[in-house]
This record gives sequence, C-alpha cells and structure tokens, in this order.
Amino acid sequence: MADSQVYLREASVHPAPEADPRVDALLGQMTLEEKVGQMTQITLEVIADKRQRPYMVDRAKLRRAVEDFHVGSVLNVVDEAYTVDEWREITGVVDSLSRASRLGVPVLYGIDAVHGANYTRGAALVPQNIGLAATFNPALVQEAAAVTARDIRAGGLPWDFAPVLDIGRHVAWSRFYETFGEDVHLASVMGVAQVRGLEGDDLASGVRAAATGKHFLGYSGPRTGRDRSSAFITERELREYYVPPFQAAIDAGVATIMINSGDINGVPVHASHDLLTGLLRDEMGFEGVAVTDWEDIKKLATLHRVAENEREATKMAVLAGVDLSMVPNDFSFHTTLVSLVRDGEVPLARIDQAVRRILTLKSRLGLLDAPAATGSTPEAVTAPASRALALQAARESITLLRNRPDASGAPLLPLSPEANVFVTGPAATSMRALNNGWTYTWQGDGRADLYMPEGRTVLDGIRAIAPEATYEPGAGFDGSLDLEAAASGARAADVAVVVLGEESYAEVPGSVTDMWLPDAQLALLDAVAATGTPVVLVLVEGRPRILGEHEAGADALVMAYNPSHEGGQAIAEVLFGRVNPSGRLPFTYPSGPNMLVAYDRTLSDDVDTSYGFTGFQPLARFGDGFGYTTFATSGLTVAPEAEIGEPLAVTVTVQNTGAVAGHEVVLLYVSDTVASVAPATERLARFAKVYLEPGESRTLTFSLDPAALSFVDARGRRLVEPGAFSVRVADQTAEFVLTGDAPLVLSTPAR
Ligand code: BGC
Repeated sequence: MADSQVYLREASVHPAPEADPRVDALLGQMTLEEKVGQMTQITLEVIADKRQRPYMVDRAKLRRAVEDFHVGSVLNVVDEAYTVDEWREITGVVDSLSRASRLGVPVLYGIDAVHGANYTRGAALVPQNIGLAATFNPALVQEAAAVTARDIRAGGLPWDFAPVLDIGRHVAWSRFYETFGEDVHLASVMGVAQVRGLEGDDLASGVRAAATGKHFLGYSGPRTGRDRSSAFITERELREYYVPPFQAAIDAGVATIMINSGDINGVPVHASHDLLTGLLRDEMGFEGVAVTDWEDIKKLATLHRVAENEREATKMAVLAGVDLSMVPNDFSFHTTLVSLVRDGEVPLARIDQAVRRILTLKSRLGLLDAPAATGSTPEAVTAPASRALALQAARESITLLRNRPDASGAPLLPLSPEANVFVTGPAATSMRALNNGWTYTWQGDGRADLYMPEGRTVLDGIRAIAPEATYEPGAGFDGSLDLEAAASGARAADVAVVVLGEESYAEVPGSVTDMWLPDAQLALLDAVAATGTPVVLVLVEGRPRILGEHEAGADALVMAYNPSHEGGQAIAEVLFGRVNPSGRLPFTYPSGPNMLVAYDRTLSDDVDTSYGFTGFQPLARFGDGFGYTTFATSGLTVAPEAEIGEPLAVTVTVQNTGAVAGHEVVLLYVSDTVASVAPATERLARFAKVYLEPGESRTLTFSLDPAALSFVDARGRRLVEPGAFSVRVADQTAEFVLTGDAPLVLSTPAR
C-alpha cells in the first residue's frame, strides 16, 4: 500500500469540472423567485399508514414546494429505512414533479449516508468513521465509500452529507464516533478517501454521489463537550487542527461543504463572512456549494441572538456566504430572501453566485440530463460482495489494546473454540450498540426488524464459533443489574467475555454529563473480575467512556468502536484468532475524566503533580494496538542535516518476527525540538499499513516535505523553523538538523 502522503497527493490530481453552458442559460431565464427556490432545501414528509408499504411522499407539500416556491433541493431525515425500490419511488415522484416545472430543473436530493447507505434496507453497513480511522487503511475506506455512493444512487439519491471532517479533539462530544479521531493527518487522509470514493472522477456516471465536508468549521471543539454548544478556538488552533482536513478535501474536489451549527469565539459560523468567504472561498479555494445545517439561519435569531429576527438572520447568512438553506419545514426563508433582494438589502449578484454553484453541481451530477443516469440496480445494493467489504472493514478496525498472559503463561487471546466461554454485558446482544446512530433512524433506535435478519450480535458471533458459550446479561443499558447470575456464569467458565459500552445516539440527545461508563456496567466488570476467571473486556462504544481503576479487571482489552452490522462476527473472529487484529487506536483513551489531552500535546501537559514529566498517563495511546504476531522495527535512517525546504527521506525496516501473518501499521512521528510556539511533543507525519508473512521484512521509504515539518505560529502562518528535529517509528528514533537563516513560510493568512 502507498504511504499516506502519496495517497493525499494522488487524490488531489483529478479532472477539473467542466463549465456547462446550460447553467448560464438557465440562470438567464430564471425569475428571482425561481433563483431563491434553488437556494431552498426542505424536508419531505413521507405519509402513509406506517404499517403499509410502499409509503408515499406528501404530494401536496411537494407540489406546493415545487410549484409555489420552486424549491431546488430536498433532504429526507427519515425515521425508517426503505428498500431501493421504495427509494426509487420516492425520489422518482420528486424528480418528475420538478422536471414538470417551468424550467424543468430537477431537485437535488441529499441524505446522511454516513456508514454505508444507512437508510436503505439491505445495504451493507460499514463501521462508523471512528472505526474506519482505526483501520489505517484508506484504500479500504475509499472502496467502502464507492459502495455507499452506488447504493444511494441506486435509489435516486445523488448527494451524501458525508464525510465528517471535524477533528475528534473532545472525547465527550456525542458525534465523536462520526470523526476520524484526534489526529490531523489521519483525518485528512481518511476524509479524502471518502470524498474520492463517493465522487470518483465522474459524478454523472450514475454510481457516484456528491460528497459533503462537514461541519465547517470548529464544530467538534465545544467547550463543554455538549453538541452544538459554544466553542472557543484560537486562530492558531483553527489553522493547526481544524482547517487541514477541510483543505485536503477541497483539494480532492469535495463538491459541497456543510456549515457548523455552533459559534466560535462568540460568532455563529453561519453569520461569519470571515470564515465562510474570507477563509473558505478566498483562502482555501472552495468553489462548490455551501449548505447550512438544520434550520441554522433562523437560529441566528432564536438561539444565537446575533440577529433581531429571521429577516436580519437571513441577510447575515446569505451575505456571509451561504448558498443553500436547509430550512427544512417551512418556506419563510424563501419569502424573506426574495423580499431582501427586492428591497436592495441583498445584491442579486450574491444570489446569482449561489444559484450558479447549485446549478453547476446539478449539471456535474448529470441531473440536467433527462433522465439522470442510474448505474446501479437493487440487486447490486444487496450483493454479498458489499457485505464482505463491510466485514473486512470491521475486522481491520478492531483494536487489541491489552493481552495479558493467563495462568499457562500464554496470552489470553486468541481463545480456543474448545474453551468454556461465558459472555455477559449489555452490548453483547445489542445491534444498536454495534451500529450506533444514523442507522435506519437518526438515533439508531429503530425497530429490531430493520436490522438485517441475518445480522449478528457479539453473542451470535461468538456462538457461531463456540456454540456452547453461556450468557447472562449481567447489566442492562437501563442500569438494571443481575450480578449474581453473571458471577456464577463466570465462575463456571474458563474465560469471561464482558461486552460493555453505549447504546445508540446522535447529536444533542447523545450529549453526556458524565464520561464514566455507567455504574451498572462497571459493577458488572468488577463482579466478573472478582471471580478470578480471566476477563476479556470488549468495548462497543462511540467515544472512550472512562473505566478508571476498574480497567484492572480486564486481562485482555478489545476496542471495537461501532463496527456496525458485521461487527459481531468480526469481534468473534478476532477473539478466536480467525482474524489477526490490525486496528490502531485513532485517539487517546483517557484514564480519568480530567485527562482530556490528545497525544500531540505540549510538554507542559506532561507535567505531573510532583513536577515530573509523567503526567500523561492515558489508558491507551493514539496508535496503540497489536495482534497475534510480533513486529520488529529497525534501521530508522534520516540524513543528519538538510537545508530547510529540501525534502527528507526517512527509511525504516519492519519485520514480522512472530509465527502468524499480519498487518503492521507503520506510524512515522515528527518532533520539532524547539520552536517559537510550544511544540507538540510529536505529530503523526506519515503512515503505511503493510502485510507481512512470518519472517518477512519490508523496508519503507517516506518522504518528508516541508509541510510535514511545519506548524502554525502565533500569527497564523504555517512555517518551518530551522533547528533540531527527530523522527520516531515504534521504538526507533533518529535526529536531524534543518539548516537555514530564517523560517520557511509556507502560507500566510490572507485575512
Ligand atoms: C446534522 C448534520 C446532518 C443534517 C441533516 C443535522 O442535524 O448536524 O450532520 O447532515 O442534520 O440530517
């Protein structure tokens, strides 16, 4: 596999979208009402007796939307999953009504397909992004995104509200599982992989979909950790941590950007000309469509209170740079904006700019051609190959964080299928926990029968390999307890598999006031550990809930994230050694609730209470994870001295020194020893995942360009400073010096 930087570079070379003369022709014919209609996105109610299929769209609302308000876009947050045929019927009704309008411009239909086509019955569901990040395998992530695009497009949905490019810097945040973790480089690479997988090189091909980089900018850094609460982020941090994944996605051609619902430093992003035009357009070069998040223009008045009323809010947002407004329940955006333009408060040129972007996207998607291409079939959506890919992604995500020896001196894992296994814990029997939010419903709390019938929980997966495994719930997500039954089950077994975690949630309802795993689950872990039977703790959770001292009870620790529909099988295969785990933790797992420090900390974050440098003691570190073989790293080499600005070659050899074939994730970190702002102790600069047979070794060469050695200084400039650096791969380090008289400035804020 190519190293991570090669991946980013290749993704940025793609055909530029061609200008379509139909766009200007349409724009020339449109009335103001029709133009503002293009900027309006509503949600459609789907009406019918919920027990009856197929459901029908609310044609009256749709007719009003299309005929009276010329609505150009629809999103559907359904509380149900539909088959491909049902989706075709729904999108078909919308499409034909809009094509029958005066200018026949079809509606652009968008949906949140964030871990596979998660609103389509029978479609493969891949791990949530936090698990995909743990695979460190962008090629796999890209392939999975291509399947998602094909699957939604099969139902007539050409626009996906994915990927989340928010960096996971606050582990309490309820959308942490939607992120690619805490590291900027990893999140950039994985974000680009999803953009390329969704969009490919030809959006009109009928199997691709427009991607959405979301949520621009700083959404993942709320001070309290609660969703949609205020963030305070310095300009330096914004540019160091939050901008790069968006920049990488823009370079890779992302078609649309969704705006952060929150406020940064007191300014709601939807009202920020500085961020939405100064930064996003002028500086970062984004040319696509900027869409609001849910009803966020109104909220400038009702929630953020930077506007007196909806009229003022609409003016602010449109002048700031919003192109498309996710309204989604009424038409007041339309009437308000039309009147603002008529009164000369919003220039027509701003409207034309937004509409041109929207029509260009429709053209790129082939929607201006009738009928739009659909290169997929319902059969393709349910093809076993997609499920196999999702299973592979789940397998590669599972991360083994601890594997202590048992009484015989051998590591506890993998388990023997002959072992007498006891399973307990609320996540052992929960499809909801495996999948988390955005699964058939927004909160992922849909009826059990929505999950594919042959879906396997962790318990099902274990019993498929060890049919005699016993089970007691022990504790419920509702706090219920049956510790005695669990303890006696554990006592009678050779090994206890304790499966803990979180049920499903999304956005505001998923906010927590307490990061500890719920008491009942910790009590279960303690009770099982107290029996003396060896414990394998499996965590099925979307964010690192605190275990505190209870972690001592786990002899083996397996982080499963939200591996989705195939996760039960993947976890069981790892536990029994049918799969050699290769996932690596994409964030720092805190050992206590006040240890909210990412791995790329400053040295002052390491200072402990006795003034030593041992203050950073997480439960597990970014990049941790091992498998059932061993790897040795040797020969890390870099030129001892180089001129600032010259690329540097770093060479390292990895060898599989164990008895089993497996993947090694090679992580190359860079440290700037002294810098004009307190340097990160280390930053991930490159990674590669290599597969090695027992005894096999591979020498890898990474190229470090100036950007890999750069940081953002106090004035917001990205630069490289001369001086001492070091690189690290596993336990190997090497030092080098960059020579030069002055810093090399790579970019200066244009604002
Ligand atoms: C979320 C977005 C999502 C949108 C549409 C919002 O509440 O923040 O991520 O795309 O809803 O469902």
